[in-house]
Amino acid sequence: MQYVIDKFVTPSISVHGTDARFPVRRIYLVGRNYAAHAREMGHDPDREKPFFFQKPADAILTDGQDFPYPSKSNDVHHEIELVVALKSGGADINESDALETVYGYAVGIDMTRRDLQALMKKAGRPWEIGKAFEHSAPISAIKPASDCGHLNQGRIWLESNGELRQEGDLNQLIWSVPEIIAYLSGLFTLAAGDLIFTGTPAGVGPVQCGDSITGGIEGIGELSLNVT
Ligand code: MN
Repeated sequence: MQYVIDKFVTPSISVHGTDARFPVRRIYLVGRNYAAHAREMGHDPDREKPFFFQKPADAILTDGQDFPYPSKSNDVHHEIELVVALKSGGADINESDALETVYGYAVGIDMTRRDLQALMKKAGRPWEIGKAFEHSAPISAIKPASDCGHLNQGRIWLESNGELRQEGDLNQLIWSVPEIIAYLSGLFTLAAGDLIFTGTPAGVGPVQCGDSITGGIEGIGELSLNVT
C-alpha cells in the first residue's frame, strides 16, 4: 500500500510482562460514574443512563512522560480512572459476554481543561476543547486480565506532591465494567484496540506546572508524571 503522505504511527501502550505493545484504536470515556464525584460536580448521582465522550487515540501519554500544561486554560484538573483495554469487540454485546472482550486493565488520568469544559456545558456545546486536547490521556502499562483477573473492587487513588487528592474503590462504580461495555456497544461498534476510561472518584482538582502526580489502582499498577 502506498500513501500520498507519510503514514503516521499507531499510538501504543506498554504491557506488563512482555515487550509487545497494545495498539490504540479509539478512546471512550464515561462521565459521572462514582456518586461522590457526581455530587461534587453538582449533579444527582441517581443511576441515569451512562454517558460517553471520546478522546483521539494519539492523546495518550505513556511510559511516565511529562505532561505539558496545555494551552488556553488556567484550570486543568486530574481525574484518576480505571481503564479497560479491549482485545475484541462487536455491536450489542450481552452483559454476560462483555468480559470476554477485555484484554486487560490500566491506570489512566482523564486530564480536563475544566474552565473550557464549563464554558461548553453552559453553552450546550460539545466538550472536545475541554477533554480531547494533546496529551490529555496519561496511561500506565496495561496489566493483562490473564494476570490480574477481572476486578470489581480495589482502592483507586491519586496524590499530588505527596498529598492525597482522590480516593475511592472500584466497588463504588455506578455502572460496572460489563454494564459499560454492553451499553456502549449498543451505541458504537467496539473493536480490539479500544480503551474505555470508566469515570473518576471524588476529589478532582487542579494541576500546576512543577507538580508531581502519582496515581494507582490496587491490583493493576501505578502511574507517575510531572507537569511541565
Ligand atoms: Mn473523567
